Amino acid sequence: KKLQEMEELGSFSEKESLGESRILVFVRLRPMAKKEKEAGARSCVKIVNRRDLYLTEFANGNDYLRLKRLRGRHFTFDASFPDTTNQQEVYSTTTAELVEAVLQGRNGSVFCYGATGAGKTYTMLGTVENPGVMVLAIKDLFTKIRQRSCDGNHTVQLSYIEVYNETVRDLLSPGRPLVLREDKQGIVAAGLTQYRAYSTDEVMALLQRGNQNRTTEPTRVNETSSRSHAILQVTVEYRARDGGMKVVNRVGKLSLIDLAGSERALATDQRTLRSLEGANINRSLLALSSCINALVEGKKHIPYRNSKLTQLLKDSLGGACNTVMIANISPSNLSFGETQNTLHWADRAKEIRTKVAEANEEIMKAPESDSDQAKLLLELQKEN
Ligand code: ADP
Ligand code: MG
Repeated sequence: KKLQEMEELGSFSEKESLGESRILVFVRLRPMAKKEKEAGARSCVKIVNRRDLYLTEFANGNDYLRLKRLRGRHFTFDASFPDTTNQQEVYSTTTAELVEAVLQGRNGSVFCYGATGAGKTYTMLGTVENPGVMVLAIKDLFTKIRQRSCDGNHTVQLSYIEVYNETVRDLLSPGRPLVLREDKQGIVAAGLTQYRAYSTDEVMALLQRGNQNRTTEPTRVNETSSRSHAILQVTVEYRARDGGMKVVNRVGKLSLIDLAGSERALATDQRTLRSLEGANINRSLLALSSCINALVEGKKHIPYRNSKLTQLLKDSLGGACNTVMIANISPSNLSFGETQNTLHWADRAKEIRTKVAEANEEIMKAPESDSDQAKLLLELQKEN
């Protein structure tokens, strides 16, 4: 029965047969925090059948069937994770498929979205004991590469950047802000460190260090600013001689994004949106909501250029890419408004269609002369 349930959950292969794919949208409910309990919070979220989610002022007890009658408060997603779901389960359902695709040269992106304190960083980075999607994805990637090590040469490179207050920074090598440039492959951050990764062990340490470099509010030096977006990009390059006659070159890119807190920034109506724009609260998140609206409405012009974040996510939102959104929510009725807002945007994101992710692959004829062959071999060896 469990297997059947699994099959019913969303998957990219199923959508790709239609010639286009859509964003897969998942919701993760975190456990009630001690602070919330102490403040007398009650649960206002109920998840049923691994997909259906009910939001009500009070969802205590088992009378959720009654909630079905509450209009506008029922949501259904590709999967809804109850608060008992562990990190591995979240990774397997949301991201494992993308990691496999990246090895085949297709781009993928996963972004965590939700209010501050809803569990975005826990889901993405996690803790040393319970590593999150970023770490599990890289671990899985290395395992898969090891399994195929005989059929070619893989290079894994990491970059970790922050967008804060419309400034882009390198989290692995803090320094001057980075400038975004447009080139053949899309938008790139000039001078960004590409960290060559060899094992999972070093990656967690690296990412934790990177996370400590995220901007903090001057008044709360130990807490990451709720307005900071973090983007981990994992580039996997594969180069091999195929049967001695051809050279295969394949590049896949996986972007894992821990967005800034969505509270206040994403108003659902245009009027509030405009007044927030005036207040310049979080230009990147506002631009993201404008892009989502434009994509959903099928507009020709999508305003990616309005912010650094949307420029960086252009390929992930409207390009040929497998895209996953994980909306994080708190169960507390004290966060009802924020949860409602998050679910509204998650529901809307389901409508976004993206192009099917094609493999970025180049197959060239192997050079014939001996000296050319020697040169190529040397080049391949150098890269290992
Ligand atoms: P955000 O990044 O969205 O602001 P965090 O990921 O920092 O929120 O989560 C807030 C707090 O809740 C942290 O202390 C975190 O460890 C805890 N937390 C979040 N999600 C979970 C979860 N699924 N299980 C256990 N603790 C969680
Ligand atoms: Mg966070």
